[in-house]
Amino acid sequence: MIGGWHYYSRVKHLYLHVPFCRRRCSYCDFSIAVRKRIPARQYVDAVLQELDVVMKSSPGWVNPGAMPRGSSEGSLETLYLGGGTPSLLPPDALATLLASLLDAFGATSLRDAVEVTIEANPEDVTPENAAAWRRAGVNRVSLGAQSFDDGVLQWMHRSHGATRIGDAVRGLRAAGFDNISLDLIFALPAELERDWARDLDLACSLLPAHLSLYGLTVEERTPLARWISRGATAAPDDERYAEEYLYAHQRLARDGYRFYEVSNAERGGHRSRHNSAYWSGRAYLGLGPAAHSFDGRVRRWNLAAWETYRRAVGAGLPAIDAEEVLTEEQRELERLYLALRTDAGLPLAALCRPLPPQAARWVERGWADVREQRLVCSPEGWLRLDALVRDLTSARGTV
Ligand code: SF4
Repeated sequence: MIGGWHYYSRVKHLYLHVPFCRRRCSYCDFSIAVRKRIPARQYVDAVLQELDVVMKSSPGWVNPGAMPRGSSEGSLETLYLGGGTPSLLPPDALATLLASLLDAFGATSLRDAVEVTIEANPEDVTPENAAAWRRAGVNRVSLGAQSFDDGVLQWMHRSHGATRIGDAVRGLRAAGFDNISLDLIFALPAELERDWARDLDLACSLLPAHLSLYGLTVEERTPLARWISRGATAAPDDERYAEEYLYAHQRLARDGYRFYEVSNAERGGHRSRHNSAYWSGRAYLGLGPAAHSFDGRVRRWNLAAWETYRRAVGAGLPAIDAEEVLTEEQRELERLYLALRTDAGLPLAALCRPLPPQAARWVERGWADVREQRLVCSPEGWLRLDALVRDLTSARGTV
C-alpha cells in the first residue's frame, strides 16, 4: 500500500465531475442530475469526503511508470471541472472546493502553473461569476456554445440564446481570461437547415484560443433517439458529417487554427493540457459521481447517480463502482488509437518495418503522412480512423 502523502505527490491530472444541469439537452446521455437548485454544500462536502477516502485507502492508482518522464514529484499540472454544468456551482462553493483541492495536491503556490479549466454554459457567465472564477484560480474556460442559431439551440434544448455566446466571451476577457475554448456540434439533421459555415465564421470572429468540434451522435434513451425512432427527425448522415468536418479544417486553417487532435483545434499554442494528458496515456484521478480514473494499467469509474455517490462517500465508503484491468493487448491497441488521434502520430518504430502495405496505401491516398519517422493522419484519415487502426493491427497480426 502506498502512503497518503506519496499517493498525492504523484497525481498530476485531476478531473472533477459536477453532475448538475438545469435540464437535459436533446442529445445528451451523460450522467447528470437535473436540479433547479444546486445542492452546492452537499456536493463540496461529498467530493472532499471522497478525497479523504481515497487518501486513506491509497490504492496505488498512480504508478510511477505512468508519470511523464522528467516531471517533478508533487506538482499538479492540470485540474479540469467537467460535467454536467460546473458553472452552476455558486462561486463561493467553487472557491472552497478549488482551494481545498489545490492545497491537498500541494499546488496552492503553483496556482498559475496549473491549468485549471471550467466547463461553462454561456448563460452562467456573468461579470460576477467570471471574476469569482478567476479569483478562485480558474485560468481556462470551455464554453458550451454548440451553435449560433437560435432555432438549433432550441432544438438542442440548450438554455442559452445565440447572442449570449458573444456576451460570455467578452465578459470572460474582461475578467482576465485569454484561454477560452468554444464547443460546437456539427452534422445536424438536414431539416434544421443549420448554416455550418456561418456558425464557424461567427465562432472565429470571437477569436477563441481553442475550438472543439463534435459530430452529433445518437445515444440510446435520449430525446433525440426517440425523435428519430418515431420519424420526427432524420438520423445523422455520414456524408454530411464528412463534408462539414473537412470544411471546418479548411475554414479554421484560414484563421490560423491548427487541429492537434481529431476534434480539437488551437492557435497561439493553447492546446488543452488536460485533454492532451488523456491522449498521451497519462495517469489521472477523477473525483465526483461518474468520474473515471486511470493509472496506466487499471481504469476505475465512480458510482454514477448523485444520491448513491453521496450516500457512499458520506458513509466513508469508496465511491468506486467498477474497474477494468487492461491487458497488454488492450493497452497496445489504446496506445495506437490515442497516438493516431493526435498530430503527434504514431512512431514508425511501433509498426513493422518497412511500412506495412496497408499503411503505405493510406499514405498513397493522402489519408496519412509520414513525418519525422511518425505516421500522422490527415483530416481524411481522421474520418477513417477505425479502419486505419484495423489495417495496422491486421498487418501486425497482433496488437
Ligand atoms: S448541459 Fe451538457 S451535460 Fe448538461 S444536459 Fe446539456 S449537454 Fe448534457
